[in-house]
Amino acid sequence: MRGGVITERDADYCTVRVRVPAGNLSIEQLKGMATIAKKFGAPYLHITTRQTVEIPHLNPKLLPRIGKELSMNGTPIGSERDEIVNIVACPGIERCKYANIDTISLAKRIDEKLFGKEMPVKIRISISGCPNGCTSPLLNEIGVVGRIEPLRIPGMCTGCGTCAEYCKEGAISIKNGVSVLDESRCVKCGMCIQSCPFGLLKSKHRHYQISVGGRRGRHPQIGRDLQDADDETAVVEIIGEIVRWVYRRAWSGRLLSEQLDDIHFDAFKKEISEKFGDRKET
Ligand code: SF4
Ligand code: SF4
Ligand code: SF4
Repeated sequence: MRGGVITERDADYCTVRVRVPAGNLSIEQLKGMATIAKKFGAPYLHITTRQTVEIPHLNPKLLPRIGKELSMNGTPIGSERDEIVNIVACPGIERCKYANIDTISLAKRIDEKLFGKEMPVKIRISISGCPNGCTSPLLNEIGVVGRIEPLRIPGMCTGCGTCAEYCKEGAISIKNGVSVLDESRCVKCGMCIQSCPFGLLKSKHRHYQISVGGRRGRHPQIGRDLQDADDETAVVEIIGEIVRWVYRRAWSGRLLSEQLDDIHFDAFKKEISEKFGDRKET
């Protein structure tokens, strides 16, 4: 049985955690899960912080039957141990007006390729469509954030200041009658782009920012910046490289965040930069 089975406080019972990439369930899958939970005596369903669903208070002897029925429902038993666990994603461009990327499509591709792989340490992956970071990607072992850089068309700005008002980072100021961007303050959220009444701001570079080694829990830590990627395929490839690197080098018994230096994060970052470093300007 996979790691998605958790022994409860009363060891005669277990909880089953299911696999739900990006937390998206069809109405049929949700109904099916409720039916299975009821059939096997669960008192309720629990929604977890990692966008999965748990079915609590089950008889461990019935796990083979429960697992089979959950698989047939399209919601198989998930993972929770030192594995790649449920992929978390915000709604992204499917629903959120601030999103810069298709988070759901990316979550599904990562899930198909890597979900449940046994690892020396637990790997949590979280994707946010913009730097607002609603799914806390920087507090996960692997985080992905969709970003866009703004570009003002030279010579046409009226200096009206609308874009400067929109920017929450104070990254735009009006100097000599035109807007000027302070790149050091810009988080590349792209919110200013739609604000210009004259359509003078364009997207310079839509990309995915990938970080490694964040964590929540007792001693939260922000992940380290690894690499920007230009498209979904490159993100999936880079995450595959991270997983291979961690699999080969990391020790079990310690969180990834505690051993980044010991497993030579800087050398790995250089390797990834050499392989994926060329950025397209789109
Ligand atoms: S992270 Fe950004 S894109 Fe995702 S839900 Fe939050 S605001 Fe929207
Ligand atoms: S992209 Fe975001 S942070 Fe950068 S200037 Fe525009 S609004 Fe400000
Ligand atoms: S909103 Fe447009 S016109 Fe106004 S300052 Fe910004 S770039 Fe210039």
